[in-house]
Amino acid sequence: MTRGNPYLRIEFVSKNFGDFQALKSISLDIYPGEFVCFLGPSGCGKTTLLRAIAGLDIQTSGRILQNGVDISGLPPSQRDFGIVFQSYALFPNLTVAANVGYGLTGGRMSRADMARRVSDLLAMVGLSGQEQKYPAQLSGGQQQRVALARALAMSPGLLLLDEPLSALDARVRQHLRSELKQLQRRINVTTIMVTHDQEEALAIADRIVVMNEGRIEQVGTPMEIYRQPAAAFVADFVGHMNFLAVEIEPGRAIRLGEVVLDIPGAGLVAGQGATLCIRPEDIQVRGIAPEQGNTVMTRIEHMEFLGSFCRAELRLTCGRSLRADFSINAMRDLGLVPGQALRVALPRDRVRLFPQGQGVAHH
Ligand code: ATP
Repeated sequence: MTRGNPYLRIEFVSKNFGDFQALKSISLDIYPGEFVCFLGPSGCGKTTLLRAIAGLDIQTSGRILQNGVDISGLPPSQRDFGIVFQSYALFPNLTVAANVGYGLTGGRMSRADMARRVSDLLAMVGLSGQEQKYPAQLSGGQQQRVALARALAMSPGLLLLDEPLSALDARVRQHLRSELKQLQRRINVTTIMVTHDQEEALAIADRIVVMNEGRIEQVGTPMEIYRQPAAAFVADFVGHMNFLAVEIEPGRAIRLGEVVLDIPGAGLVAGQGATLCIRPEDIQVRGIAPEQGNTVMTRIEHMEFLGSFCRAELRLTCGRSLRADFSINAMRDLGLVPGQALRVALPRDRVRLFPQGQGVAHH
């Protein structure tokens, strides 16, 4: 894919707080109109990186370029961005209109133009007619829309969002999430959102930057991050994943307990231990039909009906357990019940192998 020049270039950015290194030589390009999510567990450095981009914190080393210009030395007021924080951070004593128009005052805009701009912005975030209300008279979701309108008032080149949805309840959060995405598409503003919610990142981002302990683990589209995790940490942090210790066999094979599976060792050396990853939804039911493909014998330990699918805890003959998601149809057709023996397939193209000992995330 040709993307042209990056809108934002982060070059070897590190940030120390005393002896502690919160960012460890981060490099990243963000392209015009992209919606990028910084995703990672608490403390991984997401907010620190966002604050460095905004100029609210200055990096210890490295550079940040916007449209090819080094902005590392500029104060926040001279950087072209709008920002929304987790806490709505509105002025409680100002009306909605005054909050949204705050950044416009002191400029050259006439009162009438300003009022028109504010009403356009409120229409954009679905709050037409709410100009004269005060923040306390609005719901959390509405307050966050006001904060978004305020961040967009100056038509910034870059929209920075620091967990903007995490204080809202689940239903409002999901609704606002899809609205935010549609709005971002429409106005095509380059956007960076910090989140620790992997579902949110998968749903909203064009690209996800997965961070861990001050480093970038992987950058990719939601589909790439989910289906081709580059490290065990990413595999574990995003979505559900089974992890099984296996041994690399000579040729294109691995050993799982007493079963040898036809799975290429991904460059790992025969005789070495490795970690096999497979998502619960990628495990296929084979009934107890004769062995075919990469199958293993299991026993159903436990089953949970979860509405649109069924999650089963399977016990392998080697004693290890495996989580599998089956469709309701499969469950009904095969009459799956706890205690039952079940042959399942681990499709070769859905399995990933990582060197043993590679760290996994803790949820
Ligand atoms: P969260 O989701 O919890 O906000 P985060 O990934 O955004 O996490 P940061 O806020 O970027 O994490 O913090 C990264 C690390 O830097 C953390 O270990 C934090 O304790 C540390 N840190 C952040 N700001 C400071 C500061 N001003 N002084 C000292 N340490 C800090």
